[in-house]
Amino acid sequence: MIKPDLDLLKDQKLARRLMGAFLASGRLPHALLFSGIGGSGKKAAAVAFAMACNCRAAEAKEMRASGKALWNGLPCGDCAPCRKILSGNHPDILVVDAGGNTIKIERIRRLCQDLSLKPYEGDRRIAVILDAPRMTPEAANALLKVLEEPPPETLLILTATQRSDLLPTLASRCHPVNFHPLSEGRIATILERRCGISADAAATLAAMAHGSLSRALALADSPADAAEWQHRREVVFSAAGLDHPDARISQPLTVALVFAERLSLEKAGIPETLEILQSLLRDTMVLHWRSGHVFNKDLIEKLQYASQHIHPDVLLAQMTAVQHAERDLTANVNPRLVLEKLMIELRDACDEKDRRHPL
Ligand SMILES: [Zn+2]
Repeated sequence: MIKPDLDLLKDQKLARRLMGAFLASGRLPHALLFSGIGGSGKKAAAVAFAMACNCRAAEAKEMRASGKALWNGLPCGDCAPCRKILSGNHPDILVVDAGGNTIKIERIRRLCQDLSLKPYEGDRRIAVILDAPRMTPEAANALLKVLEEPPPETLLILTATQRSDLLPTLASRCHPVNFHPLSEGRIATILERRCGISADAAATLAAMAHGSLSRALALADSPADAAEWQHRREVVFSAAGLDHPDARISQPLTVALVFAERLSLEKAGIPETLEILQSLLRDTMVLHWRSGHVFNKDLIEKLQYASQHIHPDVLLAQMTAVQHAERDLTANVNPRLVLEKLMIELRDACDEKDRRHPL
């Protein structure tokens, strides 16, 4: 288990306040669902929360006893239970980490057996299921039985990108705790400290990471990936017609379809490409209303130009088309078909607008 970086949690004020209130009240729900994008601190928060529940530092004891809903400087990270949890050796903290694979029923059955035993050292047993939507339907049903009749002195913490990724029957039995994308400033600070890179380099990588520390760290690890990301964004920018928004005649359909075909060949990169496209469209929309945070700050002049020439209805229709494409991909529809349909819908959104609002 990696040591949770508590700096990560500084941006998650709501989550921290909620967890502090649970600790202070002494009445924990049976299950929590941490949801937010990858790299927003869910795993660190789960580990830190397990530590705070068991921490023997005077401040932690006092906080739990006095009902102070604060969580500053806690857990201590230094007492025996904190250290055991950090090293992954605390017998009452159980972590299920499929590492990108599916979570099978055998694993959940084993967890349920462990949870039925009394805690060895702590006041309660805490099970953390990372990336819970990776559970097979059978595994999810086995877990549901535990959630319907939770053993005493247990706390389950599930993590997911979105609440809706989990079976509704599971999600409805968990108390929601939402995690926001991290701020660029926070990511840059952590990058500088962890990777020893310059403030400028850290700021550039932080802007590319869209609120995810894990993505920022991956980019910092591989300059080639960072350059590839920049290039990919340029291609997407132009494929979406954002570079010539005033032309009003989008590129020929054949060109768009060739782009779709080329993109479908590198299957692993498709989700990232769609995410980049979504962030560019979102930024253009945000600039139209002159409000909110822009992700692609380095492109702000180009995006501003695009926002002056593209009607918000078009952007909205295009963003919906991207969402549909993302949904179809997770449903295992053929990537090439998904991308072709997307390219057609992106163009249709412009044409539709032209018909309804002729110049
Ligand atoms: Zn401690």
